[in-house]
Amino acid sequence: MPTTPANEIPIEEPRVDVPKVRRCLRCEVTFHSQWAGERICPRCKSSNTWRNGSPLGSGASGAGN
Ligand SMILES: [Zn+2]
Repeated sequence: MPTTPANEIPIEEPRVDVPKVRRCLRCEVTFHSQWAGERICPRCKSSNTWRNGSPLGSGASGAGN
């Protein structure tokens, strides 16, 4: 009997990256985030300070280069 049904396809992206309006964690300004993990507005991103105090930490999964 078949051991691997067609429905058992592993999903690589559990989180749906949908652009939506979010609130910046730094300045609390509403902006259009390009993906689910985007929580810092482009304005704050421009400055490198957000990286130091980033609440997200180093949880970003690299693309295994
Ligand atoms: Zn901001």
